[in-house]
Amino acid sequence: MSFARLLSRLFFSGTPSGSPPLIEQSKYDSNCVFCDVSVQNGFDVLWEDEKLIAFRDQIPASKYHIQVIPKEHIRSIRQLRKSDVQMLKDMVKLAHQLLDELAIAGPTRKMGFHIPPFNSINHLHLHVQALPYKTLAKKAKYPVANGFKSYIKGFSWFVEAKQAISILQDDRTVGVFPC
Ligand SMILES: [Zn+2]
Ligand SMILES: [Zn+2]
Repeated sequence: MSFARLLSRLFFSGTPSGSPPLIEQSKYDSNCVFCDVSVQNGFDVLWEDEKLIAFRDQIPASKYHIQVIPKEHIRSIRQLRKSDVQMLKDMVKLAHQLLDELAIAGPTRKMGFHIPPFNSINHLHLHVQALPYKTLAKKAKYPVANGFKSYIKGFSWFVEAKQAISILQDDRTVGVFPC
């Protein structure tokens, strides 16, 4: 059971049906598989603390493919603002720790986010990959578009974690178009 659900059971068990408590609406989505990541639910969990959880992708696109997600239900990278930069930095730090444990060389590390509507699951997830990709079709799902002029990122449905951090730090938001 997720922490958010446990909390809601403990504190809101008497809530009349039809009006779910605010805490549950904002932090937990009962229809979201990534809100219920656990070993019991069949995930290959590598690491977790009270805020983040990391697990192996069930259909790896590359030699190693891990997901790092916040336990809190956040829809996507589009929703993030400057105040979320620290969370992204924590996710990246954890990702590097996990890749360190796998002895993955720096240049083959890649990490980033899909940008809606080009995402699969509506719960923020950092793709953490050790290249190479298994196929060209898989590679095409994770294109990196370098910035130009004042843009940090070009046109792309994928944003590298470091690009996302720079964009948010600059008080902008992440989108498919150059930003
Ligand atoms: Zn979720
Ligand atoms: Zn994705």
